[in-house]
Amino acid sequence: MAVETRWFRYVQSCKHKKILSDVNRVRPDKVFEWNNWVPKKVGMVAWRAEMERLPTRCALAARNISVQNRTCVMCGNDDETSEHIFVSCQFAQLIWQNVATWCTIPPIIAFEIKDLLTLHEICSGSAKKIKALYAVILVTLWNIWKSRNEAVFQQKIPNTTKILDEIKALAYLWVKNRSKLVSLT
Ligand SMILES: [Zn+2]
Repeated sequence: MAVETRWFRYVQSCKHKKILSDVNRVRPDKVFEWNNWVPKKVGMVAWRAEMERLPTRCALAARNISVQNRTCVMCGNDDETSEHIFVSCQFAQLIWQNVATWCTIPPIIAFEIKDLLTLHEICSGSAKKIKALYAVILVTLWNIWKSRNEAVFQQKIPNTTKILDEIKALAYLWVKNRSKLVSLT
């Protein structure tokens, strides 16, 4: 096949993927995967985060709500968007690093929230193990948002160790009770 033809096909396939990803972006509620091993409120944070519907400082400013400071309260380095809080914030990255170790999966590399929400799909293991991993990811997102709210509204200083302990305890409790996996460790 001529180089031009291959290139043309490659560009076409990229355009096709781009269209698909744009469709997903516009209507992510159509592709969001709920997980009944965690409470609805937990999935809700991930669902809203993916849709950019969480009231982050930048989201509020974009809605013309007066925000004194747009900076992330967790790291103080960047503007607070959903993507920053859950993906690029150094605080979140430390949490994901530890969650990966705890779940014995390779280091988590994410560029956007969607990467976190589809991470379980590329991990190997039984269907139950993959569903449990997805539950842990949802619990982690929920906990990061909870810690962010505590820092913003109660001036609580984020404590990584405490947050990780809570993620592990809640993920274990919810998955164990809801999945009826007797042998869960
Ligand atoms: Zn940050």
